[in-house]
Amino acid sequence: MKTVVIIGAGFCGAVTAAQLLRKASEPLRVILLNRSGLMARGLAYGTRTDEHVLNVPAGRMSAFPDDEDSFLRYAQSVDPDVSANSFVSRRIFGDYLEWITREAVRKAPAGSEYRPMVGDVQRIDLIGDGARVQLTNRRSLDADRVVLALGNFAPADPRVAPDYEGFYSSPRYVRDPWRADALWVVKPDEPVFLIGTGLTMLDTLLTLRARGHHAPIHALSRRGLLPQPHRELEIRPVYTTGLPRRLPQTPNAADYLRGLRQELQLAVTEDVDWRDIIGGLRGATPDLWKALPGRERRRFLRHLRTFWDTHRHRCAPALGRLLDAERAEGNLHILAGRVLGYEEQADGVEVLWRARGGSQTQRIAAGCVINCTGPESDTRVVTEPLIAQLRDDGLLTPDELGLGLIVDDEYRLVDREGYSSPVLHYVGPFLRAQLWEATAVPELRRHVAQLSQTLHRSLASLPKSLVWS
Ligand SMILES: Cc1cc2nc3c(=O)[nH]c(=O)nc-3n(C[C@H](O)[C@H](O)[C@H](O)COP(=O)(O)OP(=O)(O)OC[C@H]3O[C@@H](n4cnc5c(N)ncnc54)[C@H](O)[C@@H]3O)c2cc1C
Repeated sequence: MKTVVIIGAGFCGAVTAAQLLRKASEPLRVILLNRSGLMARGLAYGTRTDEHVLNVPAGRMSAFPDDEDSFLRYAQSVDPDVSANSFVSRRIFGDYLEWITREAVRKAPAGSEYRPMVGDVQRIDLIGDGARVQLTNRRSLDADRVVLALGNFAPADPRVAPDYEGFYSSPRYVRDPWRADALWVVKPDEPVFLIGTGLTMLDTLLTLRARGHHAPIHALSRRGLLPQPHRELEIRPVYTTGLPRRLPQTPNAADYLRGLRQELQLAVTEDVDWRDIIGGLRGATPDLWKALPGRERRRFLRHLRTFWDTHRHRCAPALGRLLDAERAEGNLHILAGRVLGYEEQADGVEVLWRARGGSQTQRIAAGCVINCTGPESDTRVVTEPLIAQLRDDGLLTPDELGLGLIVDDEYRLVDREGYSSPVLHYVGPFLRAQLWEATAVPELRRHVAQLSQTLHRSLASLPKSLVWS
């Protein structure tokens, strides 16, 4: 039987499995591998903290572009008070992903097989018209087609002078706040220093407070900008933008900024909320990004990215209010500046930092330091064994800005020589390299649906399966 192995059982992996099975016209074997037993959850939806709510309203979180209300119906079956504009707990979204996989298995053609498996994939070798997927426990699986749905990787350590790098091996440093047991080192009455002031910082703050942490939290980023909150929605917003029509022939980052500002000024006079203008850009962003020359993309990343991220990747309104309250009560201190180093003592650590535009070194004492700078996406330097092997064997091409990797229009990995692999496919946030807007469910579900169609077509063209069945 033709076999697709999907590596990674987060949103992209689970929904790819569901799409493949529900739309199959002949029996198919789908093997869904994940390095932990938490299937259909991944980093975002595996949380057990109920305060971690979705940052997109329920009405826009369906896993299927051809059934926009699928998640809304599911959430309402759990809680009838949920509306299209509610910000529901991420744990419930994980339950939904498990449910859609079960439903897809039920609807798959008779004789199909769905095998969720725990396994950590270390390498992939191309053999004949397919691939051999090697797991850590020396087991291997053969596949006609492979989908990499690996999600995000742990953040990179912030750069400090070499003398201070030793601190990154200390138990007082948390490199990856998403690791299941990561925050147990934090004592409830010790101040904490968070590096980063975005959505990862917010998640970490919520987890700490939910566990009874009650000491001050210091959070630092280059500009000290917090995620903007969504507004409370009464109706589904209608996103519109005229920006792409107004773009010059040779686009550059400054023109984009000017165009967006004009659009926002117009919006104010027409009583349109700025968030709807930013939302309206989502569909156009991939074309705007592709039109930018490499030099201009770099300028955007250097000068505008932080502003874009805080306005585009917003938090639920209630979480915006919580951040305000924490700051007003003096429990959360937001700093703009740079970490210079760390001095560890028997009972804690002193973080040395410099304020933005300042010249003096300042110190803050904390029980531990947590890296909340967000996931590492630079596949040129990622140390994940599978990415490193594919990169070193020339089967995967990192993009030159460190945002992800290169695929063709059918989500096939492009190799070192520029050829598309007929076997290896990718879907997930690393599509950002080519599209910029590719990290949230409303975009990823569309990519997953297109990838599944591509896979069906390419499997249909195979005379027979490589895999023994
Ligand atoms: C904390 C957080 C909250 C978010 N909240 C929202 C939200 O509210 N709304 C929204 O639209 N988007 C949200 N996002 C965006 C998010 O990126 C997508 O929604 C989606 O979860 C990405 O799915 P994924 O399958 O690519 O990655 P993941 O869900 O992270 O899944 C990848 C899986 O692959 C596994 N894996 C990796 N390498 C291997 C290997 N070698 N072998 C075996 N298994 C492997 C990992 O263990 C993981 O389980 C959030 C992201 C994060 C990080």
